[in-house]
Order: sequence, then structure tokens, then C-alpha cells
Amino acid sequence: MSWFSKSDAPTVVTAAIYARTECPECGSPMVVHGLRAELTCKACRSTVPVPLHFWSGLFFRLHSAIPSKNPVRLALAGALTSELPLYARFVAEHPSCVQCRSPLRLDLRPIGTEGPTPCSGCAFTTPSFPAPAWLRSEYPDLQQFFEPVIVPPPAQTRAVSFACPECGANLKLTDGTPRLVDCQYCNHTLFLPTDLWHAMHPVQKRTPWWVAFVR
Ligand SMILES: [Zn+2]
Ligand SMILES: [Zn+2]
Ligand SMILES: [Zn+2]
Repeated sequence: MSWFSKSDAPTVVTAAIYARTECPECGSPMVVHGLRAELTCKACRSTVPVPLHFWSGLFFRLHSAIPSKNPVRLALAGALTSELPLYARFVAEHPSCVQCRSPLRLDLRPIGTEGPTPCSGCAFTTPSFPAPAWLRSEYPDLQQFFEPVIVPPPAQTRAVSFACPECGANLKLTDGTPRLVDCQYCNHTLFLPTDLWHAMHPVQKRTPWWVAFVR
């Protein structure tokens, strides 16, 4: 393309963020779903404030890395981010629907406005909002966020049968059963096997959220 045809219209560059940290209270992984002031640990139920250093580390790297053809990975130790370690991956891509993977209609959600962003493939919408002032003062071109609401799978109230390894009795387990469980027939204390435990408590993977830069 000749520079004569270069338009003065600003270019919008979007990127997906996949981020994870660890709970400082119990060490369990915590998925970072978006620009949050605090996170809640699913394992120990602690509420953990997210320090500004955490976001500074993430956006400093993201800002210098995007646009990039290849995914960019980032790992920061907790000492650099005021306690919370940061494991992140950035991918230059168009925001998409977490339900059907179709591209979001960014043309229907102008940069600088707040509200749902329609999907081009289904009725699910993705909340969007302008970057907060504190972030824009550091990175003026970082302007918009798209943060899908992750709908948790319906609570599993089903019961799972498990044969007591000591007496063979059929034990009924539910999601609320602790990992150390007493057999009500032989009174042995059982430690539930890892495969069974993970099947009942699926591991949570990182899910993307997106930012838009206007450059
Ligand atoms: Zn925890
Ligand atoms: Zn969709
Ligand atoms: Zn038993």
C-alpha cells in the first residue's frame, strides 16, 4: 500500500489476555478474569486485593509487545508485583464470544462507551467498558476492555458412588464431600483418589479477556 493512501483514521489493535496468579493465603491458582480490584480464592475463600503493581507489570509488558504475530508470555515473581505472582499470555486477536467463538461486533460498541458488545454468531453479549483514567494516564492508547462473564457450569448436585476400599460399602459422594471422608459403615477414614477428586472438582483454566488499543 502506498503511503498516499494511508488513512488518518486511527488503527484499533486488539489483544487477548490470559492471566493467572496464586492465592497468597493458600497457594492455589486463581484465574484473573479481567481488570479487578480484588480476586476471590475458590479454594480457601480468601478475598485478595490486586495491587496496582500487578497491573503495571501486566500492561507494561502488553503495551510493548502488541501487536505481535506470536503469542507473548510473561511470568513475574510475586516480589515484583507486591505478593501476587503473574503468569500471562497475550495474543493479538479480535475479541470473540466465549459461548460460540464468533467475532464480537466491535462496530456496535464504539470505543469509549460502556455496555454489552453483541456477538456476530449468537445472542450472548460481552460487557465492555473504557479503560479507567489511572490506566489511560500511563498508556493513553489503551482504551477499551471486553470482559466476558464466565457462566459457571450448573452446580453439580449429582451423587457419585464410590466403593469403600476397606469394606466395599457403596458410599454416596457429592461436590460438598470433603476429600477426607469417613466410611459410615466401617468407620475408616478414606482419602479420595486424585482422579475422582478432579472429576468432581474440575480444574479451572485461564479464559481470555480483551483490550483495544487505538494507535
Ligand atoms: Zn486461597
Ligand atoms: Zn456468540
Ligand atoms: Zn468402609
